[in-house]
Amino acid sequence: MPRPILATIHTSALRHNLARCHAAAPDAKLWAVVKANAYGHGIERAFEGLRAADGFALLDLAEAQQLRALGWRGPVLLLEGVFDARDLELCSRLQLWHVVHCQEQIDMLAMHKTQTGHRVFLKMNSGMNRLGFSPSSYRSAWTRLNALTQVEEISLLTHFANADGPEGVAAQQQLFEATTHDLGGERSLSNSAATLRHSSLHSDWVRPGIALYGSAPDFPEHSATHYGLQPGMTLATKIIATQALSAGASVGYGASFTASEPMRIGVVACGYADGYPRHCPSGTPILVDGVRTRTLGRVSMDMVTVDLTPVPQAGMGSEVTLWGCASNGAVLPIDEVAHAAGTVSYELMCALAQRVPVVVD
Ligand SMILES: *Cc1c(COP(=O)(O)O)cnc(C)c1O
Repeated sequence: MPRPILATIHTSALRHNLARCHAAAPDAKLWAVVKANAYGHGIERAFEGLRAADGFALLDLAEAQQLRALGWRGPVLLLEGVFDARDLELCSRLQLWHVVHCQEQIDMLAMHKTQTGHRVFLKMNSGMNRLGFSPSSYRSAWTRLNALTQVEEISLLTHFANADGPEGVAAQQQLFEATTHDLGGERSLSNSAATLRHSSLHSDWVRPGIALYGSAPDFPEHSATHYGLQPGMTLATKIIATQALSAGASVGYGASFTASEPMRIGVVACGYADGYPRHCPSGTPILVDGVRTRTLGRVSMDMVTVDLTPVPQAGMGSEVTLWGCASNGAVLPIDEVAHAAGTVSYELMCALAQRVPVVVD
């Protein structure tokens, strides 16, 4: 029998979350952001659940090719644009739309020989200070692009730094508006947090990522349940041994947990080599037979231990849910596990290890 760990991608949850995002921005078209192999879910595995999107946005040309190979004929957007002049040939051939965020990318387009008009999203750096033209150089970039025969249509794009927090989007939005008010073209502004929290923003194209996979972009302020989102991924395994601890006995490397009274613990077949964060401290929530309990001691490479006190009937072979849905319907949001580990759900999803088998349901 293979080691019992298994990740499950929930097609119906992805479909549901996509519909939630559509409902939050009913007048907008929606880019389903599937970068990083669909946030660790796998583009091929997530495709069925997300195919009601208006387009797919990602970074890697190989992932764009994968989408075309799956039969997707609709829009595909390269969020970082091209990395090299040769990438433009693939854009022409596969009809990929691409972000233009720097002069060098305009230079490459100007040199590019093509029969196909390119659809580009001109990116403004409105305060994030990663990619994009500054407001003062944005309009001249637009004019330069607009004069190129290689360019068929220019859309306008920016990305928010604080859509998930108290600072909000107002300053960046105003800068974007002020710079672009008289330019034609479709607008794309909102990631998941802006789509769900700032619904008055006008975006012709919203760009949710994390919400599609069932995670709240602003946890712990809001939960996935608050937004009506369902887990897109379950990571589950089984108990492979139990131990009876006497008072004073400790568990695992570094003996970081010590029992204050006699207790039963379960040894779970999942560790950091599966993508479960080593930084999860004792007390991280986990489900055994669909009942909420806690981890004990350090996470090791292949195992983690759990408190069986709330589930006295559990034993070898009992179901363990690291995140997602248990068979009894109980849900452990990935956001809670990420929060316990001092990180965000994005990182956990993307870090699901190669050795974990994945099925789609
Ligand atoms: C990743 C990304 C998104 C999606 O962000 P979420 O927080 O996952 O919704 C949107 N736009 C750009 C440019 C991105 O890189």
